[in-house]
Amino acid sequence: MTAPWQTQVSLKPFNTFGIDVQARYLVHADNDDAVRQALAGAAERQLPVLVLGGGSNLLLTRDVDALVLHMASRGRRILSDDGEQVVIEAEAGEAWDSIVQWSLAQGLCGLENLSLIPGTVGAAPMQNIGAYGIEIKDVFSGLTALDRQTGELQEFSLQDCAFAYRASVFKANPGRWLILRVRFALRRTLEPQLAYGPVRQRLQEQGVEQPTAQAISAAICSIRREKLPDPAMLGNAGSFFKNPVVSVACAERIRAAHPGVVAYPQGEDGVKLAAGWLIEQAGWKGYREGDAGVHSLQSLVLVNHGQATGAQLYALAGKIQDDIRTRFGVDLEMEPNVY
Ligand SMILES: Cc1cc2nc3c(=O)[nH]c(=O)nc-3n(C[C@H](O)[C@H](O)[C@H](O)COP(=O)(O)OP(=O)(O)OC[C@H]3O[C@@H](n4cnc5c(N)ncnc54)[C@H](O)[C@@H]3O)c2cc1C
Repeated sequence: MTAPWQTQVSLKPFNTFGIDVQARYLVHADNDDAVRQALAGAAERQLPVLVLGGGSNLLLTRDVDALVLHMASRGRRILSDDGEQVVIEAEAGEAWDSIVQWSLAQGLCGLENLSLIPGTVGAAPMQNIGAYGIEIKDVFSGLTALDRQTGELQEFSLQDCAFAYRASVFKANPGRWLILRVRFALRRTLEPQLAYGPVRQRLQEQGVEQPTAQAISAAICSIRREKLPDPAMLGNAGSFFKNPVVSVACAERIRAAHPGVVAYPQGEDGVKLAAGWLIEQAGWKGYREGDAGVHSLQSLVLVNHGQATGAQLYALAGKIQDDIRTRFGVDLEMEPNVY
């Protein structure tokens, strides 16, 4: 059955910033055929298409004069199990954290550090989601996408995806591929990734000496709940800027003026700076212009205090970028996809 086309729909419930813009058309596609039919319908009407997952990495700055294709497919399965390595597959519309929790309940390890990241499975490869020292490239096995240019299904290996820090071939070619389902290679034996001090500390506080994957997940969930605003209470899209990678000379220049700069060496040629530290140093923490603001605890998170428009948030982000460039000579890149 063809999924119904809704007209003039508010996207407020479909983006975590809570921006109230209208979609000209909205279709919820819960299987491959529904996706293909929606794309064919859009082509017939010569309409652009905006693919939507959980709307947690999206800044909508205007009404969407297009078909919004909401990925609503569900399903997850174990594809292979050799007793140690287990390959699972999940449909694009599954909530990311429900797959993390399901994998942990199966006794599988590998996704625990990525607990509680909002959004869907299908969007996770877009920016190679990452947290607490792990990115999905570390557990990625493959994915199936629809090539919107040819209408053919295409399989992607790890190499094909060109994953990098918050980047992939999909993000570099917006609109080219629609991700239908993703596979992850997980393990039955835990190899704990506890490089991040706060996670080790939280486990210690809880008296956990030999952490299980579930214990790491629970520790990370509790840290995230404390650190990040809940979009249901305060609209946001998580980190708004990527951490910039600068030359060693640039990092040293900043360190000479600001000995406390938070910086991580990236090989021999580059240094990753904490964007949140730069923004906080520049005095933006807790700043507010109308309902568009910078979170009072996390300078990296822009927030909608209620009625902010996407254009207001985008303008605020631009001011922050200009200020950081003037003060530190560093370009900040926005992380969410701006429409
Ligand atoms: C509170 C909070 C915390 C966050 N923490 C993190 C974090 O720790 N690490 C991290 O990496 N990110 C984080 N994010 C960002 C966000 O959760 C992720 O980027 C997530 O993967 C976005 O998924 P989504 O389904 O909401 O994507 P959407 O916002 O719906 O879409 C994002 C982009 O992907 C495209 N897209 C969506 N689905 C598909 C598909 N099936 N095929 C092709 N294109 C598609 C869209 O067109 C859009 O360009 C956070 C966000 C919030 C609100």
